[in-house]
Amino acid sequence: MKSSSVLRRKAFIYCIAGAAAGLTYAVFAYFIEMKLGSDYGAMHIGVAPVLAGVASYIIGREADRINQQSDMLAEAKDNFSTLTHDAITQRDWNVSFEDPAIPTCWEVKNCKAQDCPSYGRHHVRCWLIAGTYCRGEVQGRFAQKLGDCAKCEVYKASIERDPINEIGENFNSLMWALREKEEMLAETNLELQKQYGELELLHKQAREMADTDMLTGLRNHAHFQHHLQQEVDGTRGSDRPLSLIMLDLDLFKSVNDRFGHQKGDEVLQRVGNLIRQEVGELGYSARYGGEEFTVVLPDCSAEAAMGIADNMRRKMKAVEAEVNLPSGFVGGSFGVADMPDCASDAASLISAADSALLFAKRKGRDRVAYFRDLSDTELRAGDLDKLHSRLEGASLQTIRALAEAVDATDEYTDAESAKLTNVAIAIAKNLGMNQEQTDALSLATKLHDIGKVGIPSSILRKKDKLSPEELSLVQQHPEIGQRLLQEAEQLQDLIQAILYHHERWDGEGYPEKLKGEEIPVMARIIGITDAYRAMLSDRPYRRALTPEQALEELRKGAGTQFDPELVGLFVQLVGGSDDIELRRAG
Ligand code: GH3
Ligand code: MG
Ligand code: MG
Repeated sequence: MKSSSVLRRKAFIYCIAGAAAGLTYAVFAYFIEMKLGSDYGAMHIGVAPVLAGVASYIIGREADRINQQSDMLAEAKDNFSTLTHDAITQRDWNVSFEDPAIPTCWEVKNCKAQDCPSYGRHHVRCWLIAGTYCRGEVQGRFAQKLGDCAKCEVYKASIERDPINEIGENFNSLMWALREKEEMLAETNLELQKQYGELELLHKQAREMADTDMLTGLRNHAHFQHHLQQEVDGTRGSDRPLSLIMLDLDLFKSVNDRFGHQKGDEVLQRVGNLIRQEVGELGYSARYGGEEFTVVLPDCSAEAAMGIADNMRRKMKAVEAEVNLPSGFVGGSFGVADMPDCASDAASLISAADSALLFAKRKGRDRVAYFRDLSDTELRAGDLDKLHSRLEGASLQTIRALAEAVDATDEYTDAESAKLTNVAIAIAKNLGMNQEQTDALSLATKLHDIGKVGIPSSILRKKDKLSPEELSLVQQHPEIGQRLLQEAEQLQDLIQAILYHHERWDGEGYPEKLKGEEIPVMARIIGITDAYRAMLSDRPYRRALTPEQALEELRKGAGTQFDPELVGLFVQLVGGSDDIELRRAG
C-alpha cells in the first residue's frame, strides 16, 4: 500500500511539473511570436508538454490503481495461506477477510433473519457470505438460515465488492460447510457411540444369559468348562491345589415321579441357592446338567473340599423342609478330586471327580467320596463300564492315582514300590529297551493291578482262603485293567503288559495261557516283580517270606512259572545290589 501511494504522489508531481513547464514555455513562445510576428508553432510546442503532463497523470493514476490491486492481492494471498493453514491445522473455522469499510454487518443493514424471504430454509448459496463478521461475531450461522441470498442486502453488499473478498467469502463458505459436516459427523458419532453402548449392554446381557442356567441362576455347563480350563491353566506350574466337587442329587427321578416336575424344579432352584451360599467367595459353582452340580475350589486341598461338600450334604435336609417334601426325598452324593494328586488337566479332573461321585453312589448315596478312596468301594456289574467311560481320555496322572487307590489294599509302601520299579527299569536297560519302552514298563509296574478296581474289596481284603468263584473273579483283573485303559492308544505296550502279567512261562497262566516268548517281555518282567512283591506279603495260606526265601522261590519257578533268563537277571540285580534293597514292610 505504501509503495503505491508514493508512486501516485510522484506521478502527480511529474504531471503538475510537466504542465507548468509546458504552460510557461507556451506563454514565453506567445510573447516571442507577438514580438517577432511569427505563427503559432511555438505555442503548439508548448501545448504538447501540457498534454504529456495530463497523459502521465492519467497513466500514473491507473498504475497506482493496478499497484494498489496487486498489493491487495499479495496481502490477500498471505492472509489466505495463513488462514487456510490455521483453518486446516488448528480447525479454527472462524476465519474472515474482514473489511470494516464494507457494510457486511447484519445490524448495519438492519437485517432481521425473519424478514428474509428464505428464512428457515437451508440454501447452499447463502454460505457465500458465511463467515462475515459483525463486531467480532461471526455471522455464518445466521447466514446459513437466510436461504435465497440473492435478495439479501448483506449478501449483495458483500459480493459487490472486489473478487478478493468474494474468494475469501467462498473460502469461508467452504470452511463453514466443512464445519457443519464436522458437527454432523460429531453428532453421528455421538449417536453411534450411544447405539454402541446400547449394543454392548445387550451383548453383555445376551452373554450373561448364554452363560447362565435359567432355572438355578448358576453358571451353566459351557461356562463351567471354560472357567475350569482357566483355573487349571492358572494353577499349572505352581504347587497350589485345585479341587473339584461333583454333586448329583440322590434318586431325584422319584421326586419328579411322585410330586411332579415343578416340584423337582423347585428343589433344583433351592439346591442352587444352597450351593451358591455355601461356596460364596471360596470358589465357583455351576449346574453341570440335569440334577448335577459342580464346584471349583482354587487353592483348596481335597480335605477342605470334602469338608465343604459335607456341609452342603448336611444342609440338603433344610432344602427338603423348605420345599415341603417328606423326609428322604432330597439328598445328594458328592465326588471330590484334586490337582495335582488326582489329575493333571481339566478333563482328567472332571473324570476323577465324576468317578469319585460314582463311588459315593456305590457306597450307598448321601455321602462324600474322594477319588482315591476307591479301595472301600464295591463296584457293581456295569459300573466298570461307567468307570471306563469316565476315565476315557483321562490323563496318566488320573489313571495312576486310581491305580494307587487300588494298591491301597496292599501292605506295600510307596518307597518299596518305587524300589521294585527301579529293578524293573534296570532289567529293561539290561535288555537294551529304548527309553519309551522303559517308561511304559515303569508305568506298568504301577498300573498292572488297576483292574482290581472291578473286584469287590471284600474279596481283595479277605484273609481266608478264596473260594473257587472268588479266585476266578480275582483272576479277571488283568482283563478288567485292559478294558479300563483300552482307549489309550499311546499305552498299547503297557496295556499288553497289564493283560498278560499273570501268564506263565509253561503256558499255565491266565487269561490266554500264552507260553514262553509268546508272552510280551514287559508282562514277563512284571510277572516276576509282582510275584516277588506278593511273596513278601502275608497271604491267607502262608506267612510272608523273607527276601532271600522269595528269591529262592523265584529261582525254583524259573522255567515253569517265570522266564528263566529274566529270573537270573532279577536275582542278580536284587540280590547283588546294595542300593536296591527290598525288604518286607515292618
Ligand atoms: P441317582 O441317585 O442314581 O442319581 O438317581 P436319580 O433318580 O437322581 O438319577 P437318574 O439319572 O435316574 O434321574 C435323574 C432325573 O433328574 C431324571 C430327570 O427327569 C431329572 N431332571 C433332570 N433335569 C431336570 C430338570 O431341569 N427339572 C426336573 N424337574 N427334573 C430334572
Ligand atoms: Mg444324574
Ligand atoms: Mg441323581
